[in-house]
Amino acid sequence: MSGSVQSIRGFADILPSRTPLWRRLERIVRETLDGYGYDEIRLPVVERTELFRRSIGEVTDIVEKEMYTFEDRSGESITLRPEGTAGCVRACLEHGLLHNAQARLWYAGPMFRYERPQKGRFRQFHQIGVEVFGMAGPDIDAEVILLSARILRRLGLEDVRLQLNSLGSNAARAAYRQHLVTYFQAHFDALDEDSRRRLQGNPLRILDSKNPDMQALIEGAPRLLDHLDEESRDHFDELRRLLDAAGLDYDINPRLVRGLDYYSRTVFEWITDRLGAQGTVLAGGRYDGLVEQLGGRATPAVGFAMGLERLVALLEEREPAVAAAPHAYMVLVGGPAIAVGLPLAERLRDALPSLRLLVNGGGGSFKSQFKRADRSGARLALVIAEDEAAAGTVVVKDLRSDAEQVAVAQADLPARLRELLALNEIPGE
Ligand code: ATP
Ligand code: MG
Repeated sequence: MSGSVQSIRGFADILPSRTPLWRRLERIVRETLDGYGYDEIRLPVVERTELFRRSIGEVTDIVEKEMYTFEDRSGESITLRPEGTAGCVRACLEHGLLHNAQARLWYAGPMFRYERPQKGRFRQFHQIGVEVFGMAGPDIDAEVILLSARILRRLGLEDVRLQLNSLGSNAARAAYRQHLVTYFQAHFDALDEDSRRRLQGNPLRILDSKNPDMQALIEGAPRLLDHLDEESRDHFDELRRLLDAAGLDYDINPRLVRGLDYYSRTVFEWITDRLGAQGTVLAGGRYDGLVEQLGGRATPAVGFAMGLERLVALLEEREPAVAAAPHAYMVLVGGPAIAVGLPLAERLRDALPSLRLLVNGGGGSFKSQFKRADRSGARLALVIAEDEAAAGTVVVKDLRSDAEQVAVAQADLPARLRELLALNEIPGE
């Protein structure tokens, strides 16, 4: 005999005990995005592999070794999306959303990367991302950053810090890259294996190394901020003024780079030290070149993505969230009671749409049904046995107080529940 089938490494189940926290997180993020006038876009989970090769960049970790790439049955190469920006740009171009228009968009959903699973790092993980198109100035960088700050604040997360950097123009970055290669080549012996590999293809990524042994060397590297072109410097200075004026605190981190190729100018991350090495909960920046790179007209763009697993982990430390308990549990003892109770439950739901009503299933004695009722957290038990079924009544018992139980006519039950539970529905609505 073979055992039960297990899940795939790095693909986690989110169990009912934790979904309330996820729902709270998602609701707060959604409400905040609504408040800033951002529109939701829903995107497919798979795209043509070419889309990611062309956008994220051939020599990035993601494209080199983290993508879930398959041939479908017709032999086409498709990839489970490792991030949301490329697909979002693809959809905008395909549907003409950027024609002479600004767009403020957001998306949510699972992303897939073949990484080594560990705390805060999974192979399927979830992001909510924001992308803004058609605005070149630092004012929109500031808006996006302030939006991210508000989301984290509304979530009650105080232990996160904003880090800010500018990658400059593509030309400035190319020149800087040369300085960096020269520096690291002079210290080749001190480089770890990953960094040696990155030295040729993507030397900026060395700055993002999480290896503690590399930190001293990285500290000594030339700083991108000292090599900015004038326009990028002005852009960055103005962004800082706007954030200062809004009273938002940040640290300048001249080593901050992003793992994807398409960023230019502003980059930022919100970081916590409560999650070990996986401390970035939200990351983003400006990517003015990407739309054109994917075949559209040159369009400035800025965005970010937040990692929901990491945010949930932070929220979990603070206070557990629990699902809302039912208002009432219907106890049905005997066949006639079930025949009366199920249609009555439906009538109650018709009359009281916000009522949370759990109906006993699978029979059972009074005792066992009351035990379930109690465990459900319901405040009231609505009890029907043979006598009540015959009389057209229901016994209403408060499970959380010593109040006397009362028999109520079935027809009067909606009004009585509305009163007892302070449901504010309008009768008959
Ligand atoms: P990291 O440096 O942690 O690998 P990244 O630079 O690859 O992150 P992005 O592509 O910018 O991450 O994704 C934005 C956010 O998504 C990250 O800041 C993080 O919160 C989350 N994230 C990225 N990869 C994973 C993963 N494998 N598991 C869980 N969350 C992740
Ligand atoms: Mg990564």
